[in-house]
Amino acid sequence: MMIVMEKCKKCLSCINVCPVQAIREKDGVLEIDRDICLQCGCCKSCCASDAIVHD
Ligand code: SF4
Ligand code: SF4
Repeated sequence: MMIVMEKCKKCLSCINVCPVQAIREKDGVLEIDRDICLQCGCCKSCCASDAIVHD
């Protein structure tokens, strides 16, 4: 999974929904830690801005 920052509204829903805290915000940019991500798709499902895509 990856986050398209041009689409992201920074609502932070994805950070809250991720079961393993794989998404972090740093200096206004959200990043998914690929070493932790389970590819469960919860973040993608909860993103109203369609900013999370499979990579
Ligand atoms: S849920 Fe979508 S819009 Fe909200 S912070 Fe995450 S990627 Fe950005
Ligand atoms: S796919 Fe699942 S584990 Fe990976 S960042 Fe999204 S919510 Fe977290």
